Amino acid sequence: TLKGKTAVITGSNSGIGLGIARELAKAGANVVLNSFTDRDEDHALAAGIAADHGVTARYIKADMSKPEECRALITQAGACDILVNNAGIQHVAPIDEFPADKWDAIIAINMNSVFHTTAMALPMMRKAGWGRIVNIASGHGLRASPFKAAYVTAKHGVVGMTKTVGLETAKEPITCNAVCPGYVLTPLVEAQIPDTAKRYGISEDEAIEKVILAKQPSKEFVTVEQLAGTVLFLCSDAAAQITGTAIAVDGGWTAA
Ligand code: NAD
Repeated sequence: TLKGKTAVITGSNSGIGLGIARELAKAGANVVLNSFTDRDEDHALAAGIAADHGVTARYIKADMSKPEECRALITQAGACDILVNNAGIQHVAPIDEFPADKWDAIIAINMNSVFHTTAMALPMMRKAGWGRIVNIASGHGLRASPFKAAYVTAKHGVVGMTKTVGLETAKEPITCNAVCPGYVLTPLVEAQIPDTAKRYGISEDEAIEKVILAKQPSKEFVTVEQLAGTVLFLCSDAAAQITGTAIAVDGGWTAA
């Protein structure tokens, strides 16, 4: 049980981050949700989690593209026993046409934010005598695809940072690991299915299997629940000696 622990999950008002927040709350952790917006529905997500699981849940607005806001998120959280760096964006373009502002945003949100939140959270974990850092990287932290230069660069960087932090905390009751998902059926991916089917003149099922899941040998999407379960495992005592590693949850993608 994670009762009494506080988990901060960046980029958690949708998709994988929200699923992780729900799973950690279900295990008893108090949770801090985050994104760059400050809408009623963001705060309502936190209230819903608190009501469902009897934990404290808050939503704190902080833009992970801004170093000082990354740092302020951890300060405002007040406690951070579990840090899940999940915020991420994507842009697809050949490198010679890749917009420089998109490059900067992806490197800032997907990689630099992990440095800033980790730097702030580690002293708190040391003081508390326990800590778990889980970085949501990607299969693209271990393999490349064309047209995803910024994303692949950032996610490889996160895997490298994970190893370094694992070594720096190796003698302490703190672990730092990366989770590398394959394709996950978040609303973002879901929206691409009808268009892909139309573009290739195939059925939606074929679009999923032959185009979207071309790299995923299982031919099945990874689920948010499976990723949340992996994060929960990394927070458990059984995972205390797992540190500095990158765990692929990708239906065999990076085995090939
Ligand atoms: P998503 O778009 O549903 O979630 C991304 C989250 O990041 C959202 O909550 C969004 O609000 C937040 N975010 C974006 N910009 C932000 C900013 N500037 N500051 C704070 N928060 C910000 O997508 P997802 O699929 O749930 O992705 C979550 C993570 O998983 C990302 O790091 C992504 O790279 C990674 N991932 C996803 C897949 C997939 O197939 N969906 C595969 C591998 C890795």
